Amino acid sequence: MAGKHLSQIVAADAAGIALAAARLRAGGIVAVPTETVYGLAARADSADAVAAIYRAKGRPDFNPLIVHVLDLAAAEGLAIFDARALALAATFWPGPLTLVLPRRADAALAAAVSAGLPTIALRCPAHPVMRTLLAETALPLAAPSANRSGGVSPTRAEHVAKSLGDAAPLILDGGVCSAGLESTIVVLRVDGWQVLRPGPIAEAGIAAVLGSAADVTTSGRIEAPGQLASHYAPGKPLRLGAQSAAGDEFLIGFGSVAGDYNLSPNGDVTEAAAHLYAALHAAAAAPHARIAVAAIPGGEIGDAINDRLRRAAT
Ligand code: AMP
Ligand code: MG
Repeated sequence: MAGKHLSQIVAADAAGIALAAARLRAGGIVAVPTETVYGLAARADSADAVAAIYRAKGRPDFNPLIVHVLDLAAAEGLAIFDARALALAATFWPGPLTLVLPRRADAALAAAVSAGLPTIALRCPAHPVMRTLLAETALPLAAPSANRSGGVSPTRAEHVAKSLGDAAPLILDGGVCSAGLESTIVVLRVDGWQVLRPGPIAEAGIAAVLGSAADVTTSGRIEAPGQLASHYAPGKPLRLGAQSAAGDEFLIGFGSVAGDYNLSPNGDVTEAAAHLYAALHAAAAAPHARIAVAAIPGGEIGDAINDRLRRAAT
């Protein structure tokens, strides 16, 4: 595609951050590092800026965005926090936990940011670059993963450039994302809570704060828009639980299953999570027609890895 690599990658130093903050204030979109994956950020209070995110990603407009805030005070201006939400924020923020909460009627947010829902997904990130941007702009920033909708999420600046090309005119390079998987999303309802997307913060950690989720009504109204069955797609068939590779398979290994790219030779699931998307990007770029992935043990972040792999295989 013409102009595919016209995006500008700048170091996330003081000058780069100042440039990014100015673009964001002016309503532009900027790809930014966070501790989960790279996000495509824009001011969440501007309908035009939010529309530019959906356009750049080719994201369906029914799939709501996560809004990033500097601190709890900023979050409380946008959503209604009950005692459970306050306890989760006190325990896990700043960090990779997104809370879906009732949106304040007077919240200064574009309607499209939550796809017209009465709720809003909020996260307070830990990454120092994202935090500096939030502080310098003094704005809530919507920031979904900085990739074409449905594709593999970016954990490095180069991944963003490759996926979005000049649809991401400015990319702040903050190095490799430490967690490497999208945030855990928890919805708090009047009658209980539910993990909508497993992530770096395990469900057991949430339960330790809130008590068991067992009292949740699992009625048919569980709405997790955008949690589509197929997502994170590397563009090739993907086989799970592989012990070895067939001739035309790129093998993503784990532990003793060596593979062409080993997620963690020591069998450490946290390390595997951090390397997962880089491995999928490498597998997509390799000459092999297909991809195979070794079994990853469940529990803790292993559940989140397996959630992403299942969707990548669908
Ligand atoms: P991301 O693609 O990482 O920005 O994550 C956004 C995801 O958060 C969406 O695909 C939804 O599944 C979820 N989400 C965002 N806002 C809401 C909301 N108001 N209610 C339920 N889920 C939400
Ligand atoms: Mg995404």
